[in-house]
Amino acid sequence: MAVREKEVGLGSCVICGRAALRAREEGELTMLEGPNALRLKDGGSLCGSCVRKLRVMYPVQFTFDEAKRLVVKKDPLVELSTEEAVRANAEAVSFREDMREHYGFHNAVFSVDAMAESKGGFLQPPIVTIFGQVLYGSFYMQDEVTIKSGGNEIKAAIEAIDAYEHRIPMDAASLKEWIRRTWDPGRAVAENGYPCKLVVLGKGISLKPGDLVVKD
Ligand SMILES: [Zn+2]
Repeated sequence: MAVREKEVGLGSCVICGRAALRAREEGELTMLEGPNALRLKDGGSLCGSCVRKLRVMYPVQFTFDEAKRLVVKKDPLVELSTEEAVRANAEAVSFREDMREHYGFHNAVFSVDAMAESKGGFLQPPIVTIFGQVLYGSFYMQDEVTIKSGGNEIKAAIEAIDAYEHRIPMDAASLKEWIRRTWDPGRAVAENGYPCKLVVLGKGISLKPGDLVVKD
């Protein structure tokens, strides 16, 4: 397989044998367009699709500094050996099924870390930026979701998905610009195991850490 200009080949994936290609410019751990290949602890490689499969078991870990910037990003997958990665691969499907069962068989589940509301503009509903992490499954722009908070359920559509580099909410101007630049329902995807922001429109949405956004 040809290595494209922006990619670097890491050899063959230790699980599936396909070429493990790493996008050079891609942000390390906040991928909106699919996971990157990576190098394991012992030098073996995982391709992007095997990373995607194992990521549900080994979510990216992140925390914040005082300025609410996401600073510590740790990828537990790179701490695995080849042997451990192969073993995890054998368990990944049942791990995901157990998670689905635990969360009531929704197709995708997102765990809320924080939220911020900004003005939507004249006669427009507020813009709610929801920060958190996808526990399993994938979310796309325009997905219809249910926001679950303290026994309440609110239906909403995902207007935008963005990387969660800091806890700064989207305002009306940046939301419009973001949609203009990237609008393609199939493109921006929030994947399991990665921190991200989901943007919805709606009044009276009040979320606390641990609330869920689910998709059926
Ligand atoms: Zn692979």
